[in-house]
Amino acid sequence: MALKPISRIAAGVQASTTLVIDSLFKQMKAEGKDVVGFGAGEPDFPTPEHIKQAGIEAIENNLTRYTPAAGLMQLREAACYRLKTDFGLEYEPKQIVVASGAKHSVYIALMTLCNPGDEVVIAAPYWVSYSEMVQQAGAVPVIVTAEEEQDFKISAAQLEAAITDKTKVFMLNSPCNPTGMVYTREELEAIAEVCCRHNIYVIADEIYCNLVYDDIEFVSFASLNEDVKNRTIIVNGVSKSYAMTGWRIGYSASNPELAKVMSNYLSHSTSAPSTISQHAAIVALKGPQEDMQVMKKAFEARRDHLVERMNRIEGVSCIKPQGAFYVMMNMKNFLGKQMYGKTIESAEDFAQLFLEKGLVATVPCTAFAAPGFVRWSYATSLAEIDKGLDRLEEFIKNA
Ligand code: PMP
Ligand code: GLU
Repeated sequence: MALKPISRIAAGVQASTTLVIDSLFKQMKAEGKDVVGFGAGEPDFPTPEHIKQAGIEAIENNLTRYTPAAGLMQLREAACYRLKTDFGLEYEPKQIVVASGAKHSVYIALMTLCNPGDEVVIAAPYWVSYSEMVQQAGAVPVIVTAEEEQDFKISAAQLEAAITDKTKVFMLNSPCNPTGMVYTREELEAIAEVCCRHNIYVIADEIYCNLVYDDIEFVSFASLNEDVKNRTIIVNGVSKSYAMTGWRIGYSASNPELAKVMSNYLSHSTSAPSTISQHAAIVALKGPQEDMQVMKKAFEARRDHLVERMNRIEGVSCIKPQGAFYVMMNMKNFLGKQMYGKTIESAEDFAQLFLEKGLVATVPCTAFAAPGFVRWSYATSLAEIDKGLDRLEEFIKNA
């Protein structure tokens, strides 16, 4: 007898493009292929020594038991300390909810806010997981596109035009994955005014807050005013700032009522992330911050080099991102053209061929709602960046 169909929502979930490319890249490498990776966005640096030690000590001191669902009190205090020190934001530990990575924080924020049929406005290009997570919550993603000519940033007027009486949430990501662009204070104020006037919640994913270059100001959305703070769930974490992607610690800061619901939700799903990782994250947030500055400087130098060289390659171009560690390569020139006997119909075709023939892994941005672009993560060494760009030149020349 044929089994009954599974959940419609689950059946509709697509695999994450970024993670698919990353496993393909790692598999090719394991097979001994000389492939260069610009796929998944994760720092190539090891977790700083003092943070690793905190994890080791947690194990040695038998700090290996369950914690409260919303995370250890010291970790929630450490998150409050960072929010206060870095952005002047006042939160109490009961407003902080720790989750298994910032991705998980976004997920429970959406689960907490959305009813089936609610609309969630997402500024595109956006990180691939947003639209999937909105759909997992039974809500409807409403995509508002920012073109390259707008520096990939939507205007408050565009946001307002997308709002209906079903709109519940606006998803903001600054600095943005995949564009690397950072919203200015004025731009955020205009967006905040629209959100307050239409009574919309905001999920502000600020995971890249520490990776902002050229002395550009990073403004935490919740810092704009009390009304904005009350309707915003800030998402942050240790993955990007402290090179801790595998430790799986993210957190949110919100009003206490929302935090309570998120904590309840966690208490029946993951029951808090690994206790060992939580102890390491306390040290990351409260300990010395110098390692982060060293990584940031390295990312900035890599960005400068990559952007400068990419723009000298015939047929492709990119604008200079201001933060995170991604570059959006415009490959529209190749759409409809023949390369290696194949018509390039999409960024996927280009990226796939580039991986096959050029042995370079990049992420096609179709799933980021930016067809015509391929994302390069420059969280890799200058030598690898040069190797990747040499191969891009060859790939285009020999096509
Ligand atoms: N938000 C954005 C915008 C991201 O790019 C990522 C990717 N790492 C995350 C959240 C998730 O981070 P984490 O690894 O902490 O789950
Ligand atoms: N966020 C990173 C990226 O966009 C890591 C992979 C993922 O979780 O999507 O590449």
